[in-house]
Amino acid sequence: MADESHKELLKRHGLRVTPVRLAITGWLGVDSLARSQAEIEKRLDGADRVTVYRALRDLEKSGVIHSLSDSAGVRKYALCHAACAAGSHEDNHAHFSCSRCAETYCLHQVAVPQIRSPRGFTVSHSALLMTGVCKTCAG
Ligand SMILES: [Zn+2]
Ligand SMILES: [Zn+2]
Ligand SMILES: [Zn+2]
Repeated sequence: MADESHKELLKRHGLRVTPVRLAITGWLGVDSLARSQAEIEKRLDGADRVTVYRALRDLEKSGVIHSLSDSAGVRKYALCHAACAAGSHEDNHAHFSCSRCAETYCLHQVAVPQIRSPRGFTVSHSALLMTGVCKTCAG
């Protein structure tokens, strides 16, 4: 039934259910890892590059997934919390980039602290990326 809830998720965010959108949300929902477009394309064996690109763009715009740059500068995508909506992402968590396995984790339990910006600077988004060795690699 996991498939069914992802259909609901897409509809709730005003998106038409397509096989590619469904496959992406389904896979990203499996764990708290963020994945690159290349990884997603590989996973969705045979999916067209442009189709995947557009699906990622639409999903992010609609508040279903969020993205970040990992420590190597690669853009990675992960599933959002239910609180996100079109035009307003509420993902206020830190991310962790492992220098051994190169995986990027969403640290849902670690909130990005609010930092005061200097006078005249208006913050629209702030991010926190930690790098180091992940739990799996350390064990
Ligand atoms: Zn979000
Ligand atoms: Zn690791
Ligand atoms: Zn995240």
